[in-house]
Order: sequence, then C-alpha cells, then structure tokens
Amino acid sequence: MHSKTVATINSTGRQAASFVRAASAVGWHVRAQVRNSEGLVAEELAELDNVELIEGDLTGPDLKALLARLFQGVKIAFINTTHWGNEVVIGKACADAAKKAGVTHYIYSSMPDHSSFGKGWRGLPFWETKFAIENYVRQIGLPATFAYTGIYNNNFTSLPYPLFQMELQDDGSFIWQAPFHPDDPLPWLDAEHDVGPALLQIFKMGPNHWKGQRVTLAYEKLTPIQACSRFARGVGRPVRYVHGPVQISVHIPSGYREHLEILQETLGKQRAPYFGPDLEYPKEGRSIWEGHRGLEEYAREVFLDEEYANGLRYMVDDDDQFTSNRTNGSENNTQPTTPAGYATPLRIAGTYTPRTHPEGGSDGFFVGSC
Ligand code: NAD
Repeated sequence: MHSKTVATINSTGRQAASFVRAASAVGWHVRAQVRNSEGLVAEELAELDNVELIEGDLTGPDLKALLARLFQGVKIAFINTTHWGNEVVIGKACADAAKKAGVTHYIYSSMPDHSSFGKGWRGLPFWETKFAIENYVRQIGLPATFAYTGIYNNNFTSLPYPLFQMELQDDGSFIWQAPFHPDDPLPWLDAEHDVGPALLQIFKMGPNHWKGQRVTLAYEKLTPIQACSRFARGVGRPVRYVHGPVQISVHIPSGYREHLEILQETLGKQRAPYFGPDLEYPKEGRSIWEGHRGLEEYAREVFLDEEYANGLRYMVDDDDQFTSNRTNGSENNTQPTTPAGYATPLRIAGTYTPRTHPEGGSDGFFVGSC
C-alpha cells in the first residue's frame, strides 16, 4: 500500500473530482468511488495516473462492503456526501468505515445548520444533513477537518435552472435573479479549480494543524451586485442583478424545492450569513491556496465554453458586439467556434454543465447547485 493512499466518494462530483486530479498530479494514490464508471468525468479520472476507480452504489444494499473495500489500507480520506439516498446513513457509514480502517486524517465537506445558531433561522434541509454527519464524525473521535464550501462559480448557467440562472436577454445581456439581499456578502468558490489544491494543502499540513477545525473554502466575498459586476467584466456582456424570489420553471425533486424555499427565507428574507455568524472568509482559504480562480476569470475563461458544451449557441450567433474583447479566436475562421475561438467544442478537463453532467437527474435536471 502506497503511503499516501487517499479515498474519495462521489468522485465524479465537482468537489471530489477536483481533489482527485490534484492528488493524482502530485503522485498520491487515489481510491475513488464512482456510481458509474462511464461518463465524461469518470472516464477522465480513470485515465489519470494512480487513480483506482471503485464502482459501486452508495445508496444500495452493499454499502458496508463497498466502503470496506474503499477504505482498505487507507489513512486519509476526503468525503463529500450528497443528498442522493439517505445522506446521513451514508455519511455515518463512511465515518465508521474510516474509523475502522484507522484513517488518520479525514476531511468531511460539511455545511452549517442554521437552526443551530439560536437566532430563529430554519436550517436548510440539504445542509442540516451534513452538519449532522459532522457531529457524528466528531462524536466517534475520527481525526477530522470540516471543509465549508462557498457558492460554486459554475452554478451559473443560462439554462432555466433555479437560483443561479443567468437569464439571457434579447439584447445579449444577462439577468441574475435571486433572493439574496443585493448588499449581503456571499462566499464564492471555483470548486473544480480550487477545492483540490486547497484540500491537498490541508492534508499536507496534517491533522495536528487542522484537527476538529472548520475551514472555509471560499475565495471571494462578493455581494450579488459585486458578483454581477465581476461576471459582466469577465463575460463581456452587461449583467444585472434582480432581487427577487427563486424562479422554478423546470421539474425539480420536491426535496430540492423545500431546500430552495427555506434558503429563500433564511438566507434571503432573514439575511442569515451563508456560513452562519461565526465563520470568516476568504482570508483562510487564500492562506491555504493562493492560486484561486475568481468569478471574473471564470466568466471570462470558462462560462461561455461551458454554455457551448451545453448545446447553447447564442455566443456564436450573436454579432461581434460581445465577443470582440476575446483575443484568442481566429478572425478568419468560418466554422462555428467556441467563444474562445476554437473550431470544435473544447473538452475542458473536468468541466461539465447541467446537460452534460455525468449523472444529471431526471429530465436532465441538475441538483446540487447550492
Ligand atoms: P456534483 O453536484 O458536481 O455531482 C453530483 C454527485 O452526486 C456526483 O458525484 C454523483 O456521482 C453523485 N450521485 C450520487 N448518487 C447519485 C444519483 N442517484 N444520481 C445522480 N448523482 C448521484 O457534486 P459536488 O458539487 O461535488 O457535491 C454536491 C454537494 O455539494 C451537494 O450536497 C451540495 O449541497 C454541496 N454544495 C454545493 C454547493 C454549490 O454551490 N453547488 C455549495 C456548497 C455545498
């Protein structure tokens, strides 16, 4: 067994995949559980050096056996559970398996339970489960660090998904409508770009440094107005923020609807801080990993390519009004190009969009945007 063998679950997800790439790149061995070894991200991970995919369903009856196999001989682990299946059962089973295997540093991707702050806030359902798992990890005495992740830059899409839709207007501009107060700061994170290197660093600093701590992985603190302004600069189109209710115009699972309703009430109406009142950002994340990708850079370098990969063509069809500020395209190219000027859609390692998500839910819906 290699001395740096690390286990991950939900490894095609944006957080874990980012870490798998970083760990593989520095020569660590990775045992990466995936639900399905087919698909864009799973196939990419399978090709990485030192990565062993363990295919298996965390929601199935063989959970314990799957985890025993995953954790065999493993001393470090990054565990990000999702709401698919019974999250608390899966989260506890992972912690138990890690404890049994003698894991010496366990990073769990947690989130706050706003009902625990005694301020009359309701907890967000998809976050309460994570907090319950965090408590369990503490309770069983696993040497652990808890990563609190900000809002992913690539939640934004012009597709009609709730909460982070950048709605394309007839004049080529975008409108982002959300319930967050226009002046309330929000934590931002480029999960694919920055989760991996940050976690790698936390593991390298070791459990003694980080044991029991909550670490915020958020690299920018921007109000919705500031976020729109950065996004506009990056994408080269006007972006306007509208403070309004979450718009739900596609089929979404009922649990996610409830989550969004409570998010609207707790973070929107009651203006509770995203991480609760105690956790600071972005200084901590930046002190761990300095090379983050901000929202402006994301909008400039990635957003339109993800949109293109998602089957959208407005950036090609629009006249040069909004693309002239992009410099790496070929002027004489008559073929359809991506916004970055490439003749064929780019396969951007590790990026995917709702439609191309390897495991998007029914109707192509993509859950997990926040
Ligand atoms: P993701 O949303 O990129 O991918 C979904 C993951 O869920 C995949 O790994 C997939 O394999 C897994 N999955 C398990 N069972 C599945 C099933 N039955 N159908 C479809 N997918 C299934 O993953 P991620 O972003 O790395 O992690 C998601 C978690 O992150 C969620 O719990 C979410 O609450 C949390 N989170 C997200 C944000 C955000 O801004 N998007 C912020 C903080 C926390």
